Amino acid sequence: KPDDAFLSAAPHLAVAGLSRRYGAFTALDDVSLAIRKGEFVCLLGPSGCGKTTLLRLVAGLDTPDAGRVLAHGADITRLPPARRDYGIVFQSYALFPNLSVADNIAYGLTPRRERARHRERVRELLDLVGLPGAEDKYPAALSGGQQQRVALARALATSPGLLLLDEPLSALDARVRDKLRDELKRLQKKLGVTTLMVTHDQAEALAIADRVVVMNAGRIEQVGTPSEIYRQPASRFVAEFVGEANWLAARRVADDVVEVGSHRLVLGQALPAGDAFSLFVRPEDVLVRERWQAAPNTLLARVADVAFAGALTRLKLAPEGMPGVTLSAELCPSMLSRQTVVPGQIVPVALPAERLIAYPEGAR
Ligand code: ATP
Repeated sequence: KPDDAFLSAAPHLAVAGLSRRYGAFTALDDVSLAIRKGEFVCLLGPSGCGKTTLLRLVAGLDTPDAGRVLAHGADITRLPPARRDYGIVFQSYALFPNLSVADNIAYGLTPRRERARHRERVRELLDLVGLPGAEDKYPAALSGGQQQRVALARALATSPGLLLLDEPLSALDARVRDKLRDELKRLQKKLGVTTLMVTHDQAEALAIADRVVVMNAGRIEQVGTPSEIYRQPASRFVAEFVGEANWLAARRVADDVVEVGSHRLVLGQALPAGDAFSLFVRPEDVLVRERWQAAPNTLLARVADVAFAGALTRLKLAPEGMPGVTLSAELCPSMLSRQTVVPGQIVPVALPAERLIAYPEGAR
């Protein structure tokens, strides 16, 4: 939670104690967040968690029931959108169909009469978003990806300090989406424009953001760099929402030891309070060994399934002494140099202590 000292240090954008209710329903519940100048921040969460509500409050398109929005330390909660310094791009390209690309981009540039100067700016922007020479085309003649490039150029036309993006890539097909995602990231860094993007796509958020804000039911679950979010999910919700996970039912044996089936597993950190836990481990942290070595957190497992997936091989493992448990594992080709893994084979498996995280059973 940003304290007064942090807010007075004037991050580019901050929201403090922001809430928005619709009747009895709380869409946004006491949300606080601070964003540094030049940072790329993604709001990530399932449908209905309040991402768009938060973005609209930052844009001044909606008014909060409680809390403040601050830009460079100044309270802008009640400032009309036109007097805020941002450009915005929505999921649906929202271009004016009856205006040319050039006129769409120049729409917000003033004064309107300085057309020659705007022509130069439009050319610059079209180069920037990778659509040189598209000035005289009309939106209907452009692909989805091209329309979104124009929408981006329009949002950047006035050189805003803040760029707001609401699912800008999710209407595009996968190939175009990945390409535009990479370009957007490069462009953002080149311009140094502070950026807040809404997405429900965890892979997209991890790939593009400097920091990710994971939201759930109107609240922030975790704020962190992509690797913090992926490696150290703060809650079971985050662990389930981001990436792939194995879950094992575990019981406390000691402060950092649990029992799973007939195995004892050592953890890299002390257990939270309670006796029953859901133990989390990523598939790539389930390490298949070539040879058995007696060591902590090592067990034998029967290979139930092998699926080739290009750079990876995905395994389903049935660990001995853990009835009913199936572990997903991912192998790079280099991890098993001499042998191939086949169904029915018994393999040694290690679960590294520092890769196991225990969440209290029942908690979200
Ligand atoms: P999505 O990815 O589906 O857009 P989101 O995380 O952006 O999800 P919001 O659009 O912020 O979610 O909506 C949060 C919740 O508030 C939703 O349950 C939505 O139904 C509700 N909501 C949003 N706007 C209104 C409104 N004008 N009136 C009533 N309820 C609303």
